[in-house]
Amino acid sequence: MQYRKHPRTNEKISILGFGTGYIRDINPLEIKEIFEYGFENGMNFIDCIRVEDKFIKPIRQTINEFQDKVFTQMHLTGKFINGEYKRPRNVKHMVDVLNEDIKAFGVEYADFGLIHSVDEMDDFERIIENGVLDYAIKLKDEGLIEHVGVTSHNPEVCSKFIEYSDIDFFMMSINPSFDYIINEDKFELNNSRAEFYKNCRKEKIAISVMKPYGGGRLLNKNLSPLKIKLTTNQCIQYCLDRPGVITVLPGISSLSQLKESLNYLNAEPKDCDYSVIGDIGVNIEGQCMYCGHCEPCPNEIPISLISKLYDLSMIGDELAKTHYMKLSHHASECEKCMKCENYCMFNVKITDKLDKIVEFYGI
Ligand code: SF4
Ligand code: SF4
Repeated sequence: MQYRKHPRTNEKISILGFGTGYIRDINPLEIKEIFEYGFENGMNFIDCIRVEDKFIKPIRQTINEFQDKVFTQMHLTGKFINGEYKRPRNVKHMVDVLNEDIKAFGVEYADFGLIHSVDEMDDFERIIENGVLDYAIKLKDEGLIEHVGVTSHNPEVCSKFIEYSDIDFFMMSINPSFDYIINEDKFELNNSRAEFYKNCRKEKIAISVMKPYGGGRLLNKNLSPLKIKLTTNQCIQYCLDRPGVITVLPGISSLSQLKESLNYLNAEPKDCDYSVIGDIGVNIEGQCMYCGHCEPCPNEIPISLISKLYDLSMIGDELAKTHYMKLSHHASECEKCMKCENYCMFNVKITDKLDKIVEFYGI
């Protein structure tokens, strides 16, 4: 295993950690086997999002076996209750859920406490107004959380958190399909995302990566928005090359998937070379690249975000669906003014896609 240090505290964190969002329909013995294999191979970082309580016990058992070397990343103000996803932005809920998670995972505190899934500015404002972030920092002072941060798909929202407070960690969705845009006939890195990563490094803020394989789509030519197949090695290398990134958390749902991700550690440099992205060119017609050039929508529909969530839902990401349902604005608010389609450089049939989104989610 290779390790990177948190730039503020020098904690050594494995460059590959566990994403748990896809742990479902697996028997407890297999879950234990997966986590034991990972820990035995030097992984020491686990995202503890609680999808379903029944999956926690085997994870807790393996954490307990390896506790002195496992970092836990817990989610604040987001939880499944009786199968329904709740995301109330209030202090009481945050403290209750944190205490429950700490107990459920059998640890004394959360190494990383992240305010869960903040993608919209009005959600950021609600979190600040309700004192959620300030209280999370207080919990840090009280020793319940070691680092305070945020999970998000949106670097602009993350930058607002950096302006507001001295947080030191983000969990971000990062992969080439989320990072690249077409700019004046060139396929290139999205400047605002690139600047965000650089700023994180400058401010000594660390990043853990979710969705390194784009929910698996990047590994399949037919599903990938880039219209090429990338390998797990290329995707991991891409994420690790972003400034600020210290660990990559592929969502694991089987031991073979974990082994495939860990193969990165023994891969030749040529196998991790992702320069093929530079050859993609601008011929990605019709595929949403989540660049946001079509925004703002006069009805405040977050087009790029809901497009991303829909695509993730289509490949079985249940959290994406719950996330969509909690947004302030939905595809059903589209009045087909067509303003967005005029600005999309990828010629995405946005309104057609929004119709499909409404059909799928119901709103
Ligand atoms: S619809 Fe077009 S402009 Fe909008 S996010 Fe997708 S690719 Fe970008
Ligand atoms: S067509 Fe719909 S989504 Fe696009 S800008 Fe108009 S209202 Fe917004």
